[in-house]
Amino acid sequence: MKRMTVMMLVCFSFGFTQTSENWKIHDMSRPLPPVVDPGTESTQDKPGIPPSDAVVLFDGTDLSLWCSMNGEPARWPVKNGYMETRPGTGPIQTRLGFGDCQLHVEWAAPVPAVGTGQGRGNSGVFLMGKYEVQVLDSYENLTYADGQAAAVYAQYPPLVNACRKPGQWQSYDIVFHRPRFGAQGELLAPATMTVLHNGVLVQDNVELLGGTRWLNRLPYENHSDRLPISLQDHSNPVQYRNIWIRPLVETEHKELRQTVFYSESAFGKFTGDYRINPGPPLVILNRGDRLYVRMYPGQQDELYAVAENEFVSVKVDMKVVFSEEKDGKMTKVTFYQGGGETEAERVN
Ligand code: MG
Repeated sequence: MKRMTVMMLVCFSFGFTQTSENWKIHDMSRPLPPVVDPGTESTQDKPGIPPSDAVVLFDGTDLSLWCSMNGEPARWPVKNGYMETRPGTGPIQTRLGFGDCQLHVEWAAPVPAVGTGQGRGNSGVFLMGKYEVQVLDSYENLTYADGQAAAVYAQYPPLVNACRKPGQWQSYDIVFHRPRFGAQGELLAPATMTVLHNGVLVQDNVELLGGTRWLNRLPYENHSDRLPISLQDHSNPVQYRNIWIRPLVETEHKELRQTVFYSESAFGKFTGDYRINPGPPLVILNRGDRLYVRMYPGQQDELYAVAENEFVSVKVDMKVVFSEEKDGKMTKVTFYQGGGETEAERVN
């Protein structure tokens, strides 16, 4: 190997998650978001079209993706584009399991309104079969705050009561993150929920205290990452239509690997001004054992080596490649950024 200016040291790596601080700025290798047709909003007369990447759980025609809690076919009637709770048949659940998700549900309370308090238009959307967003006719119907429509039942009242009159279609848009459990079944992170009721924010990223139940705050119990969503039979004929879900992808990882380390004295062959025509020179400088590139006054980015004459920015998606060594100095630099490539020649 040539005279020792490059020291190959032990490789180390950082685990990088897809969060802003861990991706470089304008990182061209950062995955582009998939393109999704957002569909259409529902009206009272007509359910909207779900986003193109949603799993449609109920489109108003059949309950093939639902079953009773014992696995037998769901017994709720389907007619006129909706399904209806049949009192006494029990809750129904999805045949598929879900964890983190965006869930859209539309429901309508019975007309005429019958009963009072928890006895009027009661049903419920249970994430993972355990965590209920209350369905209730809360239009001019008094009950306890943590049990009205859009409450996380027995835990969090909605921020406002955005309930429509019975018989009108209402929507829940729920963003749910499942609880995380460790290897021994211990709770690492509670479930969280954000809920919009008829487009109005009613639950703002609340941390659930555990499972939801009447008169109870159940402690968390270790469970699977994916469990069915269920709809409650609370003996009131509540209607449902247009139910869809978008499972949320869990964190992606990217690895940044530094493979080459320079000694401070070796930076001399890179540091200096490089002219780009037109414009101010590109400046390569070092501060101690760190190398930087300055593209314009006041700005600079730290570089690290990935090959003998090749550096990348720690922060920005940018690569800097030096070439044509003469008298112990590199005379050319090519830098790659934003999908483009620019060459510059040493001027000092
Ligand atoms: Mg309920």
